[in-house]
Amino acid sequence: MEAGNERMIHEILPVGVLQCNCSIFGDEQTRQALVIDPGDEIEEILTVVRRHGLTVKAIVITHAHIDHIGGAHKLKQATGAPVYMNGNDEALQAMLDVQASWLGMRPPEPVQIDAPAREGDALALGSAQFHVLETPGHTPGSISLWIPAEGKLIAGDTLFRDSIGRTDLPGGDGRRILRSIHDKLMPLPEQTIVIPGHGPNTTIGREKRFNPFLQGLE
Ligand SMILES: [Zn+2]
Repeated sequence: MEAGNERMIHEILPVGVLQCNCSIFGDEQTRQALVIDPGDEIEEILTVVRRHGLTVKAIVITHAHIDHIGGAHKLKQATGAPVYMNGNDEALQAMLDVQASWLGMRPPEPVQIDAPAREGDALALGSAQFHVLETPGHTPGSISLWIPAEGKLIAGDTLFRDSIGRTDLPGGDGRRILRSIHDKLMPLPEQTIVIPGHGPNTTIGREKRFNPFLQGLE
């Protein structure tokens, strides 16, 4: 087998009432895993982790909305893995109880953030690098993760197939989200597979051509 041709384990699990796409990446050699947006259903996430014989090395939160961060405390307790989140979402994280009331849910235990996820940071998993792109707009601290070795982008709630993230919640900014998409996501290779925070996958090229929110965005 040629080096660089193996793909890593990648399972996408829609979790919770809002069906947030939780991504579980696993490296075949080191058996280490990275879990992104464990919003809920931590038992299901742990079942996938165990089925592949993986050890969770890090938990990454794309933004502090409850459907993305709600299960992080439980997963951290179960695995001991450090949690990464951009500091600009701390204010939102501090109002998880308010967010829970929007959804009529019981507020989850708040999770302690161990490390900031800032523009230019990269997390390594095996030989792959997960590059942090700051993509504010949906929330002030929204990040996306660009994984060149896999040709994949974890987009959080910034970019969706045929849509973009809502900006009417506290901290949202409609102009900023378009600037983030234009400056950080559009320059990625067209064949990049985009895994949004909810709903089906897409590609950068497809969204450039068909996403109605991005037409004329030059
Ligand atoms: Zn969100």
